[in-house]
Order: sequence, then C-alpha cells, then structure tokens
Amino acid sequence: MSIIVYIEHLEGKLKKQSRELVSYASQLAEKTSQKVTAVGVGDISREELESLSRFGASKIIHCGNLEAAALENQVYTQLLAEIFEKESGEILILANSFTGKAIAPRLSVRLKAGLVAGVVDLPESLDPFVVKKKIFNGKAFAHSQILTKSKILSLNSNACEVKEKPAESEWEEFSSQVSAPKAEIVDVSKMDADNLLTEASIVVSGGRGMKGADKWKPIEELASLLKAATACSKPVSDEGWRPHEEHVGQTGKTIAPDLYIAVGISGAVQHLAGVSSSKTIVAINSDKDAPIFEIADYGIIGDAHEVLPAFIQSVSKLD
Ligand SMILES: Cc1cc2nc3c(=O)[nH]c(=O)nc-3n(C[C@H](O)[C@H](O)[C@H](O)COP(=O)(O)OP(=O)(O)OC[C@H]3O[C@@H](n4cnc5c(N)ncnc54)[C@H](O)[C@@H]3O)c2cc1C
Repeated sequence: MSIIVYIEHLEGKLKKQSRELVSYASQLAEKTSQKVTAVGVGDISREELESLSRFGASKIIHCGNLEAAALENQVYTQLLAEIFEKESGEILILANSFTGKAIAPRLSVRLKAGLVAGVVDLPESLDPFVVKKKIFNGKAFAHSQILTKSKILSLNSNACEVKEKPAESEWEEFSSQVSAPKAEIVDVSKMDADNLLTEASIVVSGGRGMKGADKWKPIEELASLLKAATACSKPVSDEGWRPHEEHVGQTGKTIAPDLYIAVGISGAVQHLAGVSSSKTIVAINSDKDAPIFEIADYGIIGDAHEVLPAFIQSVSKLD
C-alpha cells in the first residue's frame, strides 16, 4: 500500500509546494505504515525529482514519454490513475492548484475515490478518516470524513510544516500508453518564471488606496528590494492600473507566500480568499478600522505614500 504524491514542476524546477506535499505524505505514512511514492511527469531531471527523498519519498516515478499532450488534463488523469492502481495506492495527494483542481475530480470518478479539496492540515483521525478543509472563502472550516477505501486529498499551500526525513529512494522510469487526448495543445506561451506570483516567497500587493496607476513606483521598488512578486486587488486590475495576472483573491490567483505585504487594501472577504494562507501578513492602511488589520500579523496605520518610502529606506539598509 502506498501514498502517491503528484508533483508539479515549472520548466524542470520543482514547484514550491512539492516538498510540502511529500512532507505531508511522509508524516501521514508514519501513522499508516505506508510508503510514499512521488510521481513527476515531463521534462524534469532525475536529480531534481530525487531531491524529494530528503523529505521522505521512498520511490520516485518519472514519466517522461508524454510531450505536449501531457499538458492535457485527461492525459494526466489517465496516467495518475494507472500509476495509482499499479502501485496499490490508497491515498493520492496533490496540490489544490489549477492542475490539481482540474484533475482531482476526474481522478475521483475514475478511481471511485472520495475527494476532499482544499485540505489545510494533517488528518484529525485515520479511522474514521477525517480531514479539515477551508470553506466559504476561508471564513470557516469543514471537517470531512472520507468513506471510500481510496482517498484523494488536494492540499492548500502551507497545509503542513516541511520536515526533512531522508529516505532511500527507488527510481522508476515509467512509460505510459495512455490514449490520445480529445483536445491537443498546439502552442504554449510562457510567462516570466522568475517572477511567477503563485511561486513567490514574498509578495508586495497594492489596492485602491494606492490612488492610481502612476503611483505604483514604491510598490515596485519595495518588491525589487525584497526580490518579491507584485500583486493587486481586483478593482486595481479592473481599472487597468495593473495587469490582470496580478489580481489575487476569490476571482483571481490564490497565493500563500511566506510574507504578504498589503498596501492600501481594505481586506474584503473576496480578497482574503486568495491570500489568507500566507504565513505572515503585513498591512499598511490609513484606516485603523480596515478589516485587513483583523487578519494581519503586523499593521502600520498611515498614508501608504509616507510609509512606503520609509519602509524602502529601512529595507535598503539591511544586508
Ligand atoms: C463576486 C466578487 C468577487 C470578487 N473577487 C475579488 C478578488 O478576487 N480580489 C479582490 O481583491 N477583490 C474582489 N472583489 C472585490 C472586493 O469585494 C473589494 O471590493 C475589493 O477587494 C476592494 O479592493 P481594495 O481593497 O483595493 O479597495 P477599497 O475597498 O476601496 O479599499 C482601499 C483601502 O485603501 C485604504 N487607503 C485609502 N487611502 C490610503 C492611503 N493613502 N494609504 C493607505 N491606505 C489607504 C482605505 O482605508 C481602504 O481600506 C470581489 C467582489 C465580488 C462581489
């Protein structure tokens, strides 16, 4: 019996959440006496995948024979179902990412497996198997019991602490014969991988309190100093002050950086839905009663255009 973990990568580099998924699986495996098998698809090196053995993966399966078709969700579904059955999988773990959201429900049907999406912690109990997930845009938690033998969990970022637990890992190069997809990707336009918002450890984000597109320089300057990505609230991208790719929240991207700096953002529930899993939140707002302060770990009450230059000056003095 094994716990299968599907690993995502970006241009051959493991995504930030990969180590967390394997660490979660290995902490779960300790309690269930199962082994952890990590699965990577496409153009990713053996060395990169094998680094997951540091976090408890005792088997690594690489499927490199799928080219452009591998970007098609139906292909991923078939492949992962095939591996899950071949490895006598009992629990399948994947990220609650765009890909995870697309393939987890398909896998749930194919494997007749109960699925809990958006899991935020290790299971509360194993028998019955109960896990905690966020609901209502993060306003409440649900405790869901999975009733089927096969189980699928899609994890939110920061669902568990990453712990090193070195394991000897077995390597398998797997060649899948999955059937042709019904749709084929004919072209891919790449985004700037260095500054990918969902992967950034630090994000500096601006809201309507910044007052206009021409007032963004301090946000960019602070982001550049901190090697951070930039983000914004929905109205800011709706106004065209910033590109839509930067919009975070319920209708935008979901992010979970180590540090989220929210400047001139009120903290509406729809905004928080996309950022509340951040490890540390710093808010700068001129209104002491702004809802963002209820969730912020650190708050600065003041005019963003006075606070930011001082903030930048202090950060630039750090080594
Ligand atoms: C279905 C639906 C989906 C939505 N999805 C999203 C989403 O995905 N993401 C999202 O962000 N929103 C979303 N919204 C909109 C959301 O409800 C809020 O309207 C929005 O988040 C507010 O953006 P804001 O905080 O930038 O602006 P405002 O609410 O206008 O807040 C601006 C803040 O800046 C502060 N401020 C003003 N001047 C200064 C200054 N000089 N210095 C410092 N602070 C200052 C103010 O005190 C205020 O708190 C959605 C709404 C709906 C109905």
